[in-house]
Amino acid sequence: MTAITGIVLEIQRMSTEDGPGIRTTVFMKGCPLKCVWCHNPESIRLKQQVQWIGSRCIGCKLCVTTCPNGALSFDNGIIIDRTRCKGCGTCTEVCPSTAMELLGKRWEVNSLVHELLKDKAYFLTSGGGITISGGESTLQTKFVQQVLIQLKHHGIHTAIDTCGICNQHALDMLLPYVDCVLYDLKEMDPQKHIVFTGKSNDGILKNVRFIIEYMNNHLYPREVWIRTPLIPGKTAYDENIVAIAHYINLLHSKAITRWDLCAFNNLCKDKYTRLGISWELENAPLLTKEELMHFEAIARENVYNPALVKTSGSTRIEGDEVLVAKPKKMSGC
Ligand code: SF4
Ligand code: SF4
Repeated sequence: MTAITGIVLEIQRMSTEDGPGIRTTVFMKGCPLKCVWCHNPESIRLKQQVQWIGSRCIGCKLCVTTCPNGALSFDNGIIIDRTRCKGCGTCTEVCPSTAMELLGKRWEVNSLVHELLKDKAYFLTSGGGITISGGESTLQTKFVQQVLIQLKHHGIHTAIDTCGICNQHALDMLLPYVDCVLYDLKEMDPQKHIVFTGKSNDGILKNVRFIIEYMNNHLYPREVWIRTPLIPGKTAYDENIVAIAHYINLLHSKAITRWDLCAFNNLCKDKYTRLGISWELENAPLLTKEELMHFEAIARENVYNPALVKTSGSTRIEGDEVLVAKPKKMSGC
């Protein structure tokens, strides 16, 4: 029988925002949304991709002459013709300075679980575990299901981080092996949701209700964390925060134990450059601390349990952009 495999973008250890305790977060490749603020643009495509890191390149052009698809040229730097690149990784193998990087690695279930269990001691002492993020955690459903089953077999606390765009069959397959669901509610206006992410929020609102109902009937997963990205000029406006609060009130479930307001960060600028993609928010300012506190206050005033509301992310202080949260890869939102 062929082993089930999945494409993982990155494994990040010692995460503290992706569920309870200290966690290892697995970033899967592939996402059905194209959020204009996406801070992991390299996770959107399901397939493996290459990127060129100019600061490491010594200009030997080995990659250009080796590429079997003629996808590379050199003109004051490597130019990748993405219509020709097949993501085969040959260029990354010959590059002497790791300037060509392959994004995404194919893992077998057993090998990934073996790798993840190396951090078991941290999980047990901190009440943490493993979070499957992305990209979209539910997209490579069979692979993720098998990973979760094995993790539960080893007594590990599990979480999935989802944008909510998935079919209910995928949720049926995964939820029995999940302790905590991190669920994005980004924008309540359906038209704006389409403009910001490429898809309507209709399915997202249906699926969060499905998950809550599932929890009522099965007593697991045990909790849901709602996550809302605060993007200047996009989702960060009073009416949106009020509308999300009201939606959480409608759900009114004990299962919802946290509502995270995640401030916009622009740490991903270079990722867009390396992928050869222009980024609409490249020069967007971070929120000020006062703005973040303002949205936090609105959320607390309007949601049925103010203690649910937490904030995270970067803020701008007196004209300087200062990072006050983790400078790590970010999951969710
Ligand atoms: S092989 Fe690597 S170092 Fe040489 S030109 Fe290509 S990217 Fe630069
Ligand atoms: S990944 Fe393969 S096809 Fe793409 S540029 Fe590298 S060698 Fe060429």
